[in-house]
Amino acid sequence: MTDILIIGGGVIGMLTARELLQAGCTVTVLDRQQPGRESSWAGGGIVSPLYPWRYPAAVTRLASWSQQAYPALVEEIEQETGLEAELLQSGLLILDHDEIHAAQEWAKDYQQNLQLIDKKEVLELEANLSPQRMEAEEAIWMPEVRQVRNPRFVAALKQYLLQKGVTFIENQEVSEFIIEDGQVRGVLSGNQAFTADRVLLAAGAWSAGLAEKLGLSLSVQPVKGQMLLFRTPVGTVQHIVLSRDRYVIPRRDGRVLVGSTLEFEGFDKHTTEAAHQELYREASGIIPALAQCDIEHHWAGLRPGSEDSIPYIYAVSDLPGLYINTGHFRNGIVLGPASARLMADLMLDRPTSLDPGDYGLQRDGLI
Ligand SMILES: Cc1cc2nc3c(=O)[nH]c(=O)nc-3n(C[C@H](O)[C@H](O)[C@H](O)COP(=O)(O)OP(=O)(O)OC[C@H]3O[C@@H](n4cnc5c(N)ncnc54)[C@H](O)[C@@H]3O)c2cc1C
Repeated sequence: MTDILIIGGGVIGMLTARELLQAGCTVTVLDRQQPGRESSWAGGGIVSPLYPWRYPAAVTRLASWSQQAYPALVEEIEQETGLEAELLQSGLLILDHDEIHAAQEWAKDYQQNLQLIDKKEVLELEANLSPQRMEAEEAIWMPEVRQVRNPRFVAALKQYLLQKGVTFIENQEVSEFIIEDGQVRGVLSGNQAFTADRVLLAAGAWSAGLAEKLGLSLSVQPVKGQMLLFRTPVGTVQHIVLSRDRYVIPRRDGRVLVGSTLEFEGFDKHTTEAAHQELYREASGIIPALAQCDIEHHWAGLRPGSEDSIPYIYAVSDLPGLYINTGHFRNGIVLGPASARLMADLMLDRPTSLDPGDYGLQRDGLI
């Protein structure tokens, strides 16, 4: 018997485990494979939504809270484990001209550091950028946007939780819930039972299938994203650059990620030649020097897509003992710390650090 059982060891499950642990709970994380190997591994690690003004206020609120929290969070994990997560303030350069008005309005409303810079300044920031890719004389520059190297971040987070006493049970697929007297008391994996006072469903793109077993209809579906990784001389790309829904992200060692597609094809994670070609074309359109660099890797991950990009973070009132933290779609890395804090507040009946109203099952009229 454990206090809390978490289904899913992605960034959402693990960050929530950290919050619960810090509150003194005994926490067990069950994952059907190795934790941190699905969407949380596959993503780009940008600590900001892309085109943040396109999102509802409920997303911006979580993002802003997390963005404040990231430096101390990463520092704590790095110090405890000796592992590096590579949190870098790379800044985000956005070339899409038709977004400028909405971007400025949003920045004013939410007091965000967002600047318009001219072509000369853009090329000073990003010497290898293609001038032809600039749609106008100005671009959007958000100098405070950070990135984290997400595969390293989740590995460090897991190590941190192990050191602090969280139990991980790997390669253990949850198939059913244990319900007694109308309360969720644990889960079944094959014929093994795991019991707990409280159960958290944080199974990413697979969450809706599990929720369905309880008659709960969560609007979460897998959305495939393919990425390419270039190996480049350090300095080829200096900042995160976003243009026409495609982006390049420079890692510290010179590797450059290019992403990402948005494909609604169920749980298929195959990579395709068409996406390879398209991402390569877009990447070398933004930074022509990439055409001369080797492609090291091409992969796909499944985002937990929610209809309006607003995650579900709530206590299921009809089923005491069951909690849900999922549906972070394209933004699980940036929304993770705030979602985890709010979830832990709800699980522990504490006053909430964020307004929980927006993240329940009902979300009519939010957008
Ligand atoms: C290509 C791509 C680019 C992205 N870029 C960014 C970005 O730049 N910034 C950003 O903020 N976000 C980004 N994201 C989104 C982000 O990665 C996700 O929102 C986030 O990782 C979701 O975390 P999660 O823990 O909910 O899901 P996951 O990381 O998928 O974890 C779910 C876990 O649940 C486990 N599981 C599933 N079913 C079961 C079961 N039945 N029993 C036990 N365990 C189970 C899985 O094995 C998995 O480990 C990107 C995603 C992709 C794919």
